[in-house]
Amino acid sequence: MIGLILVAAGSGQRLGADVPKALVRVAGDTLIGHCLQTAAQIPELTQIVVVAPPGIGPLPDVNVVAGGATRDASVRAGLDALDPATTAVLVHDAARPFAPAAVFERVIAALQAGAVAVVPALPVTDTIKRMHDGVVVESLDRAELVAVQTPQGFQVAQLRAAHDAQSSDVTDDAMLMEQLGVPVHVVEGSDHAFKITTPFDLAMARALQEAP
Ligand code: C5P
Repeated sequence: MIGLILVAAGSGQRLGADVPKALVRVAGDTLIGHCLQTAAQIPELTQIVVVAPPGIGPLPDVNVVAGGATRDASVRAGLDALDPATTAVLVHDAARPFAPAAVFERVIAALQAGAVAVVPALPVTDTIKRMHDGVVVESLDRAELVAVQTPQGFQVAQLRAAHDAQSSDVTDDAMLMEQLGVPVHVVEGSDHAFKITTPFDLAMARALQEAP
């Protein structure tokens, strides 16, 4: 059994909207709504848990639970709501409403092939540098870098153990697995799985969906 935890409880401060980010509308639906439309195309998913912002009502065929103060706490809330028989889970950011079903399927295929942790990723196109106090410290080798997206896939037992072992300030779940030394497999992501964080991202999302 494969569950989906849709983390949607962020405030979206950087977006500057007057509703929580996951309830912002693009192309006729909320960010949560788009994610649920995609999830409905994935037959392997046996349960969907939405970790919701305040103000969201019940949703059909979905468990809705309240989020925490951090993304990490919201994922934990989602894990607590999973059916005990669920063996694998995808954790997806509602902030990536156009992540295609094909990416979900690639992550699921890797889990079914035995991976414990899987992330979708794309090569980076910018040159990435580390800086300190406004000065470049080092340039990183772009050939080795990838930009990591969601949905990320995990065997549930190991993801629970990783969350129990640490509650550090991680920005994704794969980081917890890396800290435990668990290999995190990489599958191909998608340009469409971009994250909506800033007003510019939202404008881009709207423009893309309206493009002929
Ligand atoms: O803040 P960030 O953009 O990294 O958030 C990624 C995802 O995590 C978003 O979909 C957001 O709604 C979710 N999140 C959450 N609970 C929080 C913070 C973020 O569910 N406290």
